This record gives sequence, C-alpha cells and structure tokens, in this order.
Amino acid sequence: MQTLEQTHQKFSQLKSLLSEIEDLYGAEAVLHWDQKTYMPAKGIEARGRQLATLNRIAYEKFTDGTIAQLLDDLTTYERDSPYDSDEASLIRLTRRNCDLASKVPTEFEVRFSLLRTECYQAWATARQENNFALVQPTLERMLDMSREYSSFFPEAQHIADPHITGSDYGMSAVSIREVFAELRAQLVPVVEAITSQPPVDNSCLHQHYPEAEQLAFCHNILKQMGYDLERGRQDKTLHPFMTKFSIDDVRITTRVYENDLIQGLFSTIHEMGHAFYELGNAPELEGTPLAGGVSSGVHESQSRLWENLIGRSRPFWQYFYPQLQAHFPSQLGAVSLETFYSAINRVDRSLIRTDADEITYNLHVMIRFDLELDLLEGKLTVKDLPAAWNDRYLSDLGVIPTSDSNGVLQDVHWYTGQIGGMFQGYTLGNLMSAQFFDAAVAAHPEIPDRIETGNFTVLHDWLQANIYLHGRKFTAAETIERVTGSTLGTKPLIDYVHRKYGSLYKL
Ligand code: ZN
Repeated sequence: MQTLEQTHQKFSQLKSLLSEIEDLYGAEAVLHWDQKTYMPAKGIEARGRQLATLNRIAYEKFTDGTIAQLLDDLTTYERDSPYDSDEASLIRLTRRNCDLASKVPTEFEVRFSLLRTECYQAWATARQENNFALVQPTLERMLDMSREYSSFFPEAQHIADPHITGSDYGMSAVSIREVFAELRAQLVPVVEAITSQPPVDNSCLHQHYPEAEQLAFCHNILKQMGYDLERGRQDKTLHPFMTKFSIDDVRITTRVYENDLIQGLFSTIHEMGHAFYELGNAPELEGTPLAGGVSSGVHESQSRLWENLIGRSRPFWQYFYPQLQAHFPSQLGAVSLETFYSAINRVDRSLIRTDADEITYNLHVMIRFDLELDLLEGKLTVKDLPAAWNDRYLSDLGVIPTSDSNGVLQDVHWYTGQIGGMFQGYTLGNLMSAQFFDAAVAAHPEIPDRIETGNFTVLHDWLQANIYLHGRKFTAAETIERVTGSTLGTKPLIDYVHRKYGSLYKL
C-alpha cells in the first residue's frame, strides 16, 4: 500500500521523465524544421544520423521499463482522479502510447527513421527531376517497412489499422471507408453539376505577384488574425507545414508561386490554423505529451476551418479585399470583390491536391486513401503506383497527370512518413471543421459579422476554450461529442457545400 506522498512522488517522477522525452522531440523538431527550410543539401547525411540518434534516445527512455512501472504504480491514482483531470488524462495517454511503443522494437524505429530521411531526399530529387524511378527503390523499402510495422500488431483487423491508429486513434480502415463512401456519394453529383457549367474566370489570381510582396501580405494577415509573432515565425519551404518546439515557439512555413496568388495565401492561413491549436493549449500541458492536438483529423479540422470556412468566406474578404487591392493595385485595382470571391472558390477537376477547391479536395484524399490500402494489402506494387494514380485521376476527377511531379510525386507524405494512415485526416478534418463551426456559430451567432469587421477573437476564443485548451486529453470521438453533442457525420459539411456553392453556382 503506497502513501499519498509516495503516489505524488511517482506522478512527478513520471512527469519529469516525460518532460525530458518532450525536450528530445522538441530538438528533433528543430532539426526537421532546419532540414526543410535552410539546411544545405549536403548536410543531409549527418542530419539523418542526428535525428536517428535523438529518436533512439527518446524511444529507449520511453520504453526502458521505468515509465511502464510508474504507470502500474499509478493505476489507483488514475482511477480515483476525475477522467478529465490533467493527472488521469496524462496517465491514460501515456499508457496508450506505452502499450503501442512496447510492441515496436527500438531497432525497427531507428531503421525507419533513417529510411525516412533517405526517402525524403530521394523524393525531393525525383520531384525536381520529374522522375518517379529515382525514388521507386526507396519507396519500395518504405512499403516493406510500413507493412513490417503493421506486423507488430497481429490483432489489427486491417493491415492499415496500426497506421490509422497512430494518426487518428479510434478510427479504422472499415469505419473510414464507410464515412468516405457516404461523403463521396453526396459530393460527386455536386461536382458534376458545377463542372457542367462554364468555368469561372480566375485569371485575376494568375497575374504576376512578386514573391516578396506576397510574403509581406501573408505576414500582415497573420498579424491581423492574431498569430503571435513573438511565439512563432514563418519561413519558406517546399511543402508547407507547422512545427512546434515548445508552447511558446510554434512555427509555420509556406511556399509562394509568383503566377498564383492563392498558394501562399491559403497555405499561410492553413498552417496558422494548425499553429493556433498548439499555441492555445493550456500552459500546464507544456512539457507533457498532453500538449498538442488530439489526432490528425482534429488538427486538420482547425487548419481547414481557418483556411476554408473563414479564409474562403465572403465576410473575410469583405474585410481583407480592400487591403489586398491596395497591396496589389496594378493587379487587382480593377477587379471586383465578387470576381475575386468567385475566383478563389472556383471548383474544377484538377491535378494537385493542395491547389484543389474545398469540394474536390476530398476526392483527391479518397484516391490516396484507397491507393494506400491497395499498396498495404498487396493489391498494388510501388512500380505500378504511378499508373494506378493516373488511372484513378482519370476515373474520379476526369484529368490525367502530365508528369510524375504533378502526379504521384506531388505529396511528400509517403516519402517522409510511411504508407498508411497519411491522408484520411484531411477529409476527416473537413467533416469536423463544418461540425465545429456550426457549434461555434450556434453559441455565437455574431461570428460572421465580427469577421466582416476583422475581429477574429470571438471565434478564436470559442475554439480555444472548447478545443485548443484541452490538448490531447480526449479522443477525437470524445472531442466531437463534447463540442457538438453528436458523433462524426457528413451532414454539416454537405449542408455547408450546398449553401455556399448553391449560391455561387446557382445550383
Ligand atoms: Zn494541415
């Protein structure tokens, strides 16, 4: 029988061990960020080794048995603490992570970390040279290792489930297939109705927009939307991402094209949405695994909410468009708000996921999700992947990639993460973003009016109180239930699509 004092001592020992591990992850994040922003190409070999070393130390610390023993000793403490308390939540989450890690050998983790660095670099070259063959052998090893990872979870119902569990805990290949099929059935007729109309003229977005001026405007948007530049910064990269070194250093990256105004703009708002989430965690969660976002779907719900439901909305541009016109007078001075608003919401069958409108975007995700399952199930080989990719683009979106770079090489995920569980979060996030936004507007009907005046705090504060603050205390299903009172569903997103695009395209 352990005294209360001993229990508290064990809990604080657990916290301090976890905090050391979080520091190692923070250091890894700095190295990753540097690799993807400023590192010279030849730094890659040493960088891969450094990342693998940090990863191994963190992993060994986590799995050497000390934490597992502390968790055992804290079973009663967890049971006696309220479910939503920091204490019970930390023990619960750590136990879940520990069970997971105990199944994967350290040797495998180290090998996988090295392969990821190697594959990322091979992808970058292959993409630049527009040649899938340059990365094919490395990606074949990536598929082998992704399958090997699943083999550590023999109880999984589907070979993709261990990967899905890693990013969207509580979801499975079967449950996602079901919700995707339902969504797809409702989206396809909308896409057909829209694309049978003459395309919207979006030439105003494809004039010459100098990079430096685009970055300056993005910086201005970040400031006005409330991204704290003393707790974050924005840099350029090949594939935009958000990264956290600590609760007070949450960074974002972007890419800018001089002939396309919206890439930089919307990737900035997207990554800022991710950053809001991490910056909004309760300070008490800092240095524990409870800091962060619930799952890839819930994280994505925040980036997509800010990017699409706000950033592509009329009220948002009623406020920002005069500023944008003043920033680019020769390009946009004579372009009306209506023309600009229609242009940024143009729906078409396109090749690139990150350029896609918010409706067809989900079809891009579903293609990747299905291909991942086919690869893992052994129905598709890596060698045949580019052709399978092109076939699906033709049948689902009516377009054929003209090259590997705008086909199978466009996304970094499979080349830097693993094959499996990498894409479903985007569409799960879209579904949740509509659900969360409906709940926010139900609580504060004035939100759209406030946005029209450049005030984002009502929405931000509501998201902070309901989602950001809690970090990873709850699962995705619990979060949706707590915030909206219901379960994950397709109706809010479909209703939103009909409302917005019904009027844009007179459907
Ligand atoms: Zn994102």
